[in-house]
Amino acid sequence: MENLDILQIINKKSLNKELNENEINFFVKEYALNKIPDYQASALLMAIKINGMTKKETFALTKAMLYSGEILNLNDIGTVVDKHSTGGVSDSTSIAIAPICACCGVKMLKLSGRGLGHTGGTIDKLEAFDGYDVDIPMTKAKKLLKTNGACIISSSKNLAPADKKLYALRDVTSCVESLPLIASSIMSKKLASGSHAIVLDVKYGDGAFMKTKSSAKKLAKLMCEIGKNFGKKMDFVISNMNQPLGNNIGNKLEAFEVIEILNGKKGKLYESIVNLSARCVKLGLGININQAKEKVTYAIKSKNALTKLKTMIKAQGGSLDLFDGLKIKPVLKITSTKQGKITKIYCQELGSIVGKLGAGRSNLTDKIDYNVGIKTYFKQDQKIQKGQLLYEIFMSNKSEAKKHVKDLLNCIEIK
Ligand code: URA
Repeated sequence: MENLDILQIINKKSLNKELNENEINFFVKEYALNKIPDYQASALLMAIKINGMTKKETFALTKAMLYSGEILNLNDIGTVVDKHSTGGVSDSTSIAIAPICACCGVKMLKLSGRGLGHTGGTIDKLEAFDGYDVDIPMTKAKKLLKTNGACIISSSKNLAPADKKLYALRDVTSCVESLPLIASSIMSKKLASGSHAIVLDVKYGDGAFMKTKSSAKKLAKLMCEIGKNFGKKMDFVISNMNQPLGNNIGNKLEAFEVIEILNGKKGKLYESIVNLSARCVKLGLGININQAKEKVTYAIKSKNALTKLKTMIKAQGGSLDLFDGLKIKPVLKITSTKQGKITKIYCQELGSIVGKLGAGRSNLTDKIDYNVGIKTYFKQDQKIQKGQLLYEIFMSNKSEAKKHVKDLLNCIEIK
């Protein structure tokens, strides 16, 4: 390792030559130790963005970032399944999938994140259950996983720390949008979480990270190959994020919508939850997808999954008040000024507006208001009458809510 030189590595990659495992290890280790400065790391990342990486290089980069921190060992628990979404708007699926899987006999430990920018985060939504502790120690999380079959906590800083440093640098050097960099970044963290099988929900469209279906598919396939290379069972779903997945956007509203789904409400969010849960159950139990779907729909229909969610929330100190109904009321209703068909929804902008209203943050240290959000009453291609209800805004300040009416109306094209 002593003979390696970062300048030679940058030069090699800029000439589109394949880096070997030693060179990649050297870069990741030395950068994590602050021995390689940001400007040299940026140059290498840009060369990778421009020239891409071979599978061998991508596997090596994933491995180097994976081994830069702690790797959880869940082997004493049996098969543990994880589900990962690349992020979207009104995507509260994880909060439903974990208890559903547990009811089907498949254990799920999720190490989730907070929302940032226009996308929400599972951890913020769970904190909308007053008192829910997302930072319980791993020993307790493993105990809950054994007794309840499911547990969701906040992702640890110690998992793949080299990725965290590199991701922050990519963010400010226009190096996020690179397939091998995204795939290795996500998979290094997923592999470090110790589960034995992973279902990926890779989203595309206006509200997603990947804008086209084909790029989402490429990313999903690459991440599956990485997972399989590390001995994991993998499956993926490609899903459309050209409109919010559920009807509600905002932390408490989204948590409440999960309760509604587990109480039998149907729609796109329900379908996504059933599909993803079935894939997790299929991998976890080694059964076919139809058998898995049957188990999943029974878990919902019987209300067993709803009871399991209550158990999970209570076990981590969360209040069960939300299960008795949504106590917050809308401060403003917005109706359509036009008649026609919804031809386009600016989903990313919708997520951003709700964030600005107070449900999200632009920096991870910003405080959020769990009660803030919007309920939407439309879907793509729906016919709309003039005066028809489109949105309800939930927040305490009515005059502030009024300032966003125009922007919210501009998030939908009616023709
Ligand atoms: N999410 C990640 O964790 N890493 C990426 O590179 C992109 C999205």
